[in-house]
Amino acid sequence: MSTFKAIVVVKKEDGQQAAIRDVDDSELMEGDVTVRVTHSTLNYKDALALGGRAPIVRRFPLIPGIDFAGEVEASGSADFAPGDVVVLTGWGAGETRHGGYAQRARWPAGQLVKLPQGMTAERAMAIGTAGLTAMLCVLALERHGVKPQDGPAVVTGAVGGVGSVAVALLARKGWKVIASTGRPQEADYLKNLGVSKIIPRGELAAAAKPLGKEAWVAGIDTVGSTTLANLCARTSYGGAIAACGLAGGMDLPASVAPFILRNVALLGVDSVQAPMALRQRAWERLAIDIDTGVLASMTTKIGLDQVITTAAELLAGKVRGRVVVEID
Ligand code: NDP
Repeated sequence: MSTFKAIVVVKKEDGQQAAIRDVDDSELMEGDVTVRVTHSTLNYKDALALGGRAPIVRRFPLIPGIDFAGEVEASGSADFAPGDVVVLTGWGAGETRHGGYAQRARWPAGQLVKLPQGMTAERAMAIGTAGLTAMLCVLALERHGVKPQDGPAVVTGAVGGVGSVAVALLARKGWKVIASTGRPQEADYLKNLGVSKIIPRGELAAAAKPLGKEAWVAGIDTVGSTTLANLCARTSYGGAIAACGLAGGMDLPASVAPFILRNVALLGVDSVQAPMALRQRAWERLAIDIDTGVLASMTTKIGLDQVITTAAELLAGKVRGRVVVEID
């Protein structure tokens, strides 16, 4: 029997509390693959979970962290062998199952993805759930058939984790990228990721008219609410918006006009329960489509002991791009 370090969330009378402690192997959940976790990450959902700001953690005590990457230590599955480098995102990690803020994890083989050739655990977590989601949005737009030569693409919440990776992926594929942000001081950061034009967050925040002047043919939205409504209203004929986030609200005060008069498509994107074949395809594309230098430029590294304070900074809008948690 051995122990490992982890952040553990416990329920208190007045809410919940998160702290680092030693966890016994016997507390690991069922699964046929044991992973030595080397890297995790900090996503918006993690920050909400750690701050107790939304009912993300639904079982106590629980190790939070919605994703992790590391090396297989032991496997009862023919699909994985000790030494394989794997990634786990979603599937209830950090919600109903012990997640990534731990030196060890045990997981069903059918939910782990073996990393493509050349992709390290650290790079997989610089991408993380946020980057996987951005890639799923790009794949959804491609399935719809929109192309860079049809017009520009817009990305909202562009300085955030999903937004930053979305910008980089679209720019690499030749899209002219318009970024919406509430942080004009990050203009140089966004331009380095490949943004051609920046619009202030406020331009998309007011109540949307049924239709607006056509400004883009594709979009990736991380904000929701009036922002998503405005995005749809300003999409040109036959275009599509991939919606994956709710940083500005869960509502959607929109009209049907863009859908029935401009043939605009609203494409929903979920990473948590995305089917395995789609995940594998997304990771394969990420291994090719992400410029490693650009990814490094949007990534900050922290230790397990900095996760809780950095989560509060993320919710306060003070974190940019991606945050990798070095577990080892
Ligand atoms: P981040 O906190 O890194 O980024 C969110 C960004 O949204 C901020 O950086 C900010 O961008 C913008 N923003 C924040 N608050 C507001 C507001 N009130 N109005 C308008 N814009 C705002 O989070 P992530 O990138 O990790 O996640 C983004 C969203 O995507 C979240 O809602 C998250 O839950 C969702 N998500 C969904 C997934 C799925 O499977 N569908 C998976 C992963 C994430 P800026 O500073 O540029 O204005």
